[in-house]
Amino acid sequence: MNLILLDPSEVDGHHARITDARRLTHLHEVHRANEGDRLTVGIQGGAMGKATLTELNKTQALFALEDINEPPPPALPVHLVLALPRPRMLARTLEHVTALGVKEITLLHTKRVEKSYWQSPELRPEKIHQHLILGLEQARDTQLPNVTLCKGFRPFMEEQLPALLTERRGLVAHPGMENACPRGIDEPTLLLVGPEGGFIPWEVEQLLAAGCEGMHLGPRILRVETAVTALLSRLF
Ligand code: SAM
Repeated sequence: MNLILLDPSEVDGHHARITDARRLTHLHEVHRANEGDRLTVGIQGGAMGKATLTELNKTQALFALEDINEPPPPALPVHLVLALPRPRMLARTLEHVTALGVKEITLLHTKRVEKSYWQSPELRPEKIHQHLILGLEQARDTQLPNVTLCKGFRPFMEEQLPALLTERRGLVAHPGMENACPRGIDEPTLLLVGPEGGFIPWEVEQLLAAGCEGMHLGPRILRVETAVTALLSRLF
């Protein structure tokens, strides 16, 4: 927790109060915070700055806010379409990509996504929200990503992909493609990453026919969470 991320409801003028066990425990045990410490805070959806811890006990932490006017870091110009991975991988991947600055995420069903993954508690809005918050706190950011679920590949291809590609360069990460992943781009991009079993050939054909470019990351087949991190780092 490199940033105390405050919900706007926790802020009252130049004061803030948090009461949840997770952040209180972190302040006590990881920060080893003491009253009088100056810590970095941010307001969800808003700016960041410094605050002095004026009270810390088992039930609450109180902060006196200084000028909170530092903008969060810039977002990556990418919309990530991620074939739904297994729940634990999803949790870690959401945290990583949020920390890296992704603000638009679509979780997509593809042929090799286990149908049971869609029933996972990890997909409950409050669980997704918690993983996004952890990513923001890690990276010192305040802007929550939008996460949408798309449970059908065909509806995605027909109803969503054409609009997404009107203003973005579509890139499909798939081992064995002819071209290597581009480096250091800054144009708006739609990045598609397959499930743990990969995209099936028909899905890749459909994506390429719709205007996406296929690309690879080399001969090593990476886990989804590693691939996404490597792709975002290399692309941007
Ligand atoms: N056996 C699967 C295959 O060959 O497609 C492996 C899938 S991999 C575990 C999961 C996803 O990560 C892939 O669908 C792809 O989007 C991405 N990925 C992993 N390694 C990659 C690489 N070397 N090049 C491009 N994409 C990769």
